[in-house]
Amino acid sequence: MDTKYIFVTGGVVSSLGKGIISASIGKLLQARGYKVTIQKFDPYINIDPGTLNPYEHGECYVTEDGMETDLDLGHYERFTGIHTTRYNSITTGRIYKAVIDRERRGDYLGKTIQVVPHITDEIKRRMLREDEQLQTKKGGTAAASPGSQYDFIITEVGGTIGDIESAPFMEAIRQLRWQLGRDAVCVHLTYVPYLKAADELKTKPTQHSVKELQGMGIQPDILVLRTERHLDDSMRLKVASFCNVDLECVVQSEDMPSIYEVPVNMQRQGLDAAILRKIGIPVGETPAMKPWHDFLDKQRNATREVHVALVGKYDLQDAYKSIRESLNLAGIYNGVKTKLHFVNSEELTKENVATRLEGMAGIIICPGFGQRGIEGKIVAAEFSRTHDIPTFGICLGMQMIVIEFARNVLGYKNATSSEFVSTSSEDKMHQLVIDLMEEQKDITQKGGTMRLGAYDCELVEGSRTSEAYGGKALISERHRHRYEFNNAYKAEYETAGMKCVGINPAAGLVEIVEIPSLRWYIGTQFHPEYSSTVLHPHPLFMSFIKACI
Ligand code: GLN
Repeated sequence: MDTKYIFVTGGVVSSLGKGIISASIGKLLQARGYKVTIQKFDPYINIDPGTLNPYEHGECYVTEDGMETDLDLGHYERFTGIHTTRYNSITTGRIYKAVIDRERRGDYLGKTIQVVPHITDEIKRRMLREDEQLQTKKGGTAAASPGSQYDFIITEVGGTIGDIESAPFMEAIRQLRWQLGRDAVCVHLTYVPYLKAADELKTKPTQHSVKELQGMGIQPDILVLRTERHLDDSMRLKVASFCNVDLECVVQSEDMPSIYEVPVNMQRQGLDAAILRKIGIPVGETPAMKPWHDFLDKQRNATREVHVALVGKYDLQDAYKSIRESLNLAGIYNGVKTKLHFVNSEELTKENVATRLEGMAGIIICPGFGQRGIEGKIVAAEFSRTHDIPTFGICLGMQMIVIEFARNVLGYKNATSSEFVSTSSEDKMHQLVIDLMEEQKDITQKGGTMRLGAYDCELVEGSRTSEAYGGKALISERHRHRYEFNNAYKAEYETAGMKCVGINPAAGLVEIVEIPSLRWYIGTQFHPEYSSTVLHPHPLFMSFIKACI
């Protein structure tokens, strides 16, 4: 089958859950046996979100091949289990950079470089995944034609219709739609507000949004209406007739108790069937999606609450998205509802830690960058170590439990990470138990230069961690950091009871520490949260939640 393309755009307001709808479409098509990938095009100028403050854009998600990407890729992976790559996350910045680099090389042979056609052509190339094809061909596993390793390529465009910056993306979609004919489908997601005073649902914003899209030359094939209240058929018919869309192609997405109910709700309303019909593929039987339904049953039955503290500095749902979802999923598989409590590490002190962490069955010490809030993380690490509360330190969190141990067990009062000391003269006063990695020492650029992506890690047999991984000897996990455990102190740590139980075989870097004498006290330099999915919750989170229970 030739590759088919689905474009997902959003109108009226942002935060409607385009990522969830895109991931749900991916899931539903996958359930029908199709090979699917989902990509996100973000209209901002940053090359990638790696340099963005989480308050700007939520969590930065990292792919196996080391791309720092939008958090929607996390939804794509959790829903579908596919492994995304650098080809799945594109920004305006990357598009322009490619074009400008080419211009500087002289590749355009004296032409004037313009948004149309040069920028739009570059966007189209990426929407069709031609770059990836080229790469695959070079690598030897040639695919016959662009995009042919996929049956469906779903492209989600960030932002809202009408944004100035997304205009080139819309023009690229318009051209592709015309070029590809029935092989392309446009799905537009809008919002139908409920006005309490009038006791009415309003479709006008949707009509305007579709008009805006039509003004750009794009006629949506399918409308997904986000709504807090049920829309009756007359409402849907009204939208259909005003927007030139078939009635069966107007689908409503009501608020669900969980995002994982969305694919099933979309299937019930025939979203995937509508897409197939538009493309001209026989719809066939509705897939049963048994594993997904089994998961949803578990979710509905998991009502007993287990309280877990997230000790971090970003008081924002999206900042620790993948960690939250990983804990949530691990809870469901353990038959409990994980209740997460954000504890601001900037406010944590030795005096208030006992009250702030009261009633917590487990503690996550969150990843992060920079000095702000680190002392509070160290206070939390000490409290949970001395009170034997299950504790999971992730990346910076692992570094904090290492520093706490040095200060309070090894007696190095000035132990810290070189991330937090600025001059070399200052270094001499500190014990740098966390130090800059050798390969990072000459790097001055910030963007995309950390140790990123999946690396191997050998587990020490018989360790708590190896047990959690089901006795595996070798694992691979994703990273995003510049600093590492300083091996000069390794022997001292081990003698004092903190064991280095995961080592990168190529570089000898310590990737995991644990205190085996405690119930569950583990720190990982990597981010296990990036590889937890709905059908395959991550073993470390599973084991952590078990310990919390
Ligand atoms: N700031 C730390 C480092 O760069 C940890 C990064 C993180 O938590 N992702 O090593």
